[in-house]
Amino acid sequence: MITLDQISRRYASDEIETTALDTIDLTVEAGEFVAIMGPSGCGKSTLLNILGTIDRPTDGRYLFEGSDIATAPESALARLRRDRLGFVFQSFNLIDELTVAENVALGLTYRAMPAREKRDRVAAAMDRVAIAHRRNHFPHQLSGGQQQRAAIARAIVGEPRLILADEPTGNLDTENGAQVMDILSELNAEGATIVMVTHSPSHADVAKRTVNMLDGRILSSARRAM
Ligand code: ADP
Repeated sequence: MITLDQISRRYASDEIETTALDTIDLTVEAGEFVAIMGPSGCGKSTLLNILGTIDRPTDGRYLFEGSDIATAPESALARLRRDRLGFVFQSFNLIDELTVAENVALGLTYRAMPAREKRDRVAAAMDRVAIAHRRNHFPHQLSGGQQQRAAIARAIVGEPRLILADEPTGNLDTENGAQVMDILSELNAEGATIVMVTHSPSHADVAKRTVNMLDGRILSSARRAM
C-alpha cells in the first residue's frame, strides 16, 4: 500500500538545520497494523505527518497505492486525505461546539453522497465504537475514552484505506486505553491498515509489527510472533 523510498525531512533555520527524518525506507502492506516507537524527538510525528500528507518530504519518494505523491499537487493530496485516510490524535481534536454526531459527520465533509446515506454512515460509525447513545452530547460532556471513540468514529466514517493514529491512548487511563486498542485491533481484523505512534510497549504489542526509531532513522522493524 505504502512505500517510503529514501525519505528525508530537514528543517532549516538561520543557524541550524535539523534532520527530522534521515533517508527512511519503509513499506506498509494493506492489512498491516504497525506501531512506531522511539524516544521523544526521534521523528515519529514527522513520519506520521508525511504518511498523512500533512507534511512533505525534503527528499525521497512516497508511493501510495503505486503513485508517487511526494511532489503531487496539494489538490490531489487533499482528495487523498478525504477519500483514503483517517486520522486519530492524542488530544482527540473534536470540535467543542458540535455534537458527537456532527463531529462524526465531519469525516464525510465534501463527500458527494445523498444526505440519507451520510446519516446512515454516521449512525453505523457511532454504533461501531459504541458511542451512539451519546450522539447528541458535546465533547465536554464525555469522558476521555468516549471522546476518543467519537474521534475514531469520525476517522472511520469515510471507510478509509489507512488509519493514522498519533498516540491515540496517550491521554487515556489504562481501562479506556485498552478499550481504544481493542477497537483499533478489531478494525484491523476487519481489513483496515493502521499505522500508530505509541509510547506504550503493551499497546505496541497489539500491533502486528513494531518499527523502532532513533535520531530520524529506523533502527529495527520486528513482526510480532503469532
Ligand atoms: P517525535 O514525534 O518522535 O517526538 P518529531 O517528529 O516531532 O519527533 O521531531 C523530530 C525532530 O525534528 C526533532 O528534533 C524536532 O525538534 C524537529 N522538528 C520537528 N518539527 C520541527 C519544525 N517545525 N521546525 C524545526 N524542527 C522541527
